[in-house]
Amino acid sequence: MCGIIGIENNNKAAIFVSAGLLTLQHRGEESAGITVSNQNTHTMKTFTAMGLVSRIFSEEINCKKLPGQSAIGHVRYTTSAKSSLINAQPFQINCIHGDLAVAHNGNITNFHQLKNKLLKKGAIFTHTSDTEILLHLIAMTKGNNLKTIIAKAVRKLIGAFSIVILKNNTLIGVKDIHGFRPLVLGKVGKSFILSSETSAVEVLGGKYIRDISPGEIIIIRNGTIIDSFIYGKVDKQTSCIFEQVYFSRPDSIMFGQTIKEARVMMGIYLAKQMKNIKADIVMPVPDTGYFAALGFSRESHILFENGFIRNHYVGRSFIKPSQNLRTITAKLKLRPIKEVVNGKNIILIDDSIVRGTTAKNLISILKKAGAHNIHFALSCPPILSSCYYGIDTPQKKYLIAAMHSIEDIKQYLNVDTLNFLGLENLINACSLNVDNKKIFCDACFTGIYPTKINKCTIS
Ligand code: SF4
Repeated sequence: MCGIIGIENNNKAAIFVSAGLLTLQHRGEESAGITVSNQNTHTMKTFTAMGLVSRIFSEEINCKKLPGQSAIGHVRYTTSAKSSLINAQPFQINCIHGDLAVAHNGNITNFHQLKNKLLKKGAIFTHTSDTEILLHLIAMTKGNNLKTIIAKAVRKLIGAFSIVILKNNTLIGVKDIHGFRPLVLGKVGKSFILSSETSAVEVLGGKYIRDISPGEIIIIRNGTIIDSFIYGKVDKQTSCIFEQVYFSRPDSIMFGQTIKEARVMMGIYLAKQMKNIKADIVMPVPDTGYFAALGFSRESHILFENGFIRNHYVGRSFIKPSQNLRTITAKLKLRPIKEVVNGKNIILIDDSIVRGTTAKNLISILKKAGAHNIHFALSCPPILSSCYYGIDTPQKKYLIAAMHSIEDIKQYLNVDTLNFLGLENLINACSLNVDNKKIFCDACFTGIYPTKINKCTIS
């Protein structure tokens, strides 16, 4: 998962983008970068580095080195390539169409096939991430009209991609025809913003206008929307439902409701499913289990308690690039409050169970702190299949629910009951304000992928 943002027609473009990236930091903590376009010097400049946005971009240090009126930015966590500086985005190139830069969220599933074709034609790749393919496709597409060039290039891509492109003072947004990853349009003063989430628009003092539609390309320049059109045939929208379960910020709006509201509803539905289970307290695994636990407590009238203290200086365990780092991070991240959990029957709520290592560690911490019974509940169904659309679950053998029965997982975790939110309830919780409930990708729960998945993508 990654976060992307762009702004145009703004003399403090880099500062705005860095503040937006800070708001999107939860979408990737490995690297961050900004490209600016300066109309006074007619140049573009990119700065990328490994680490957190707050360390890389402070106004005093690096933003001042990035003067310009339009900018795009990116925060990254690894899905399809190595976690290293060469893959930190935005990618900036100089090609037949001039200087341009790209920042991408998602996974291009036909990347290997496209890359092999281009390699045979003599193309040289300098990054190892799938995003580079788009730059090649744009560079190799003939024409003078930016709109036609971008549309022709992205029509060749399959998979998940929400993209911001910067060329001179023109900001372009693209969303794939399935609409896997979010991308929204906002406005602050005379500047348009494109962002992965609405919360970043609001932090910048802007107003959320609308979602970019599946298959849409939007072209913005000098505070005006120059063009907006659908570049390809949209068969069926399949937006990633995991955005609501785990990835997006609770204060972001998706499908007409806040993520917080969706998570509260997940908790309400979980409580309805588990109405026969008695407990003293409902406890969230911070932070993503928080609102589902709140909803559970409201529905069940079981007391909501915070029994974990979170160390805010440790990143999200799920998005660390290696298993070793994930295990250490999980131990550092949460400590129990003995007074809250000792002798209690607890309903413990988390968003999902992927590998099971974090959950096992947390449950053992709670038991050591004196918890009596633990009923573990997840605000989504068991994850049975890998994601090829931008979330780091590439190999099925690491998914605990894909490899073991629910009873075996229950014993492995050492819990009294193990409960999963049903898929229909999850979909209902995420679509309170939409008539069409069939707008979500649920492939990680069902194994039914909205696009063709090639063997080389799986390897
Ligand atoms: S497979 Fe799962 S995580 Fe991946 S896009 Fe679909 S719903 Fe989201």
